[in-house]
Amino acid sequence: MKSRIESLVRPEILALRAYHVPPAAGLIKLDAMENPYGWPESLLSEWLETLRGVEPNRYPDPQGEALQAALRKAMGIPSDMGLLLGNGSDELIQMLALTVAQPGRKVLSVEPGFVIYRMVGLFSGMEYVGVPLQAEDFSLDLPAMLEAIEREQPALVYLAYPNNPTGNRFDVDDMVRIIEAAPGLVIVDEAYAPFTDYSFMGLLGDWDNLLVMRTVSKMGLAGLRLGYLVGPTPWLAEIDKVRLPYNVNVLTQVSATFALEHKDVFDAQTQSIRTERGHLFEALGGIEGLQLYPSEANFILVRTPAGRAGAIFDGLKERKILIKNLDGAHPLLADCLRLTVGSPEENAAMVEALKAVMA
Ligand code: PMP
Repeated sequence: MKSRIESLVRPEILALRAYHVPPAAGLIKLDAMENPYGWPESLLSEWLETLRGVEPNRYPDPQGEALQAALRKAMGIPSDMGLLLGNGSDELIQMLALTVAQPGRKVLSVEPGFVIYRMVGLFSGMEYVGVPLQAEDFSLDLPAMLEAIEREQPALVYLAYPNNPTGNRFDVDDMVRIIEAAPGLVIVDEAYAPFTDYSFMGLLGDWDNLLVMRTVSKMGLAGLRLGYLVGPTPWLAEIDKVRLPYNVNVLTQVSATFALEHKDVFDAQTQSIRTERGHLFEALGGIEGLQLYPSEANFILVRTPAGRAGAIFDGLKERKILIKNLDGAHPLLADCLRLTVGSPEENAAMVEALKAVMA
């Protein structure tokens, strides 16, 4: 079987490791940028009531019309722009790649950046080009970006804004220069939009190659798996052709529509996460040896003393706290850990554990 696998499976897939999510049972989960807050009891019962109307024997609405309308209303999507739904924004990243993929074509993003851009580039048979960010503050290296765009002529440029895993937002003028230089599509991935005041949504239409991608995951609905892509209708009409029918299931459609009608609840939660991010940043600043990177997302990247990230990660896990160890993920992330902003209690436990482990 081994030889048959080796001769059949594409070499670039053979060389990969499957996306690994560590088990988190019994741990305080601060590794995946989730909203730590559950739903208020009254909202839960009202939601369960709406599920009574679901017909699980029927396929879902293929376009998710009601959900699209709820998103347009709640999220300030420009009325002249198209909207496309995905099973998480991960699926939209893949749909974009499938729409343009041809041998020899390139996908470009920054490093360190969101790993799915690279993975999806490979899955779709394109080449991935990663342009390093500036080492000192993870800002864009504009000359390097423009040079890479000129040299590689990428079909797609993905830019997370704010960026994961660094937490910063790139300079708007730099982004504009990139959009203007790019021969293909530029997708501004605003997964962390609930935690910043800046967005490219209002700039849609200023360039014919700009699309904005969002998700409801970080506002508190990660389990529903819903992402959305906004941009000029002619682009979305083409991308819609590679969407598999019924990609957003009926439970997600009904539940997300319901949740968006109660967006104030989630806005209050994300606002409190923003406040807690400030408190956590301050508390982490009091720990000797930690270098902090300012964040406009719901996580904070920290650099630990050289060679200690693995032991600090393990020490936190022994104290029942799961974070993300990024040491080894990219040269610019040596000794780095990514800490999701949790509830005040979770953050306090994480800070105490860090103090104990680093003492
Ligand atoms: N984009 C960025 C920048 C992310 O960090 C993430 C999730 N970590 C996603 C997209 C994927 O989000 P979703 O849950 O909608 O697939």
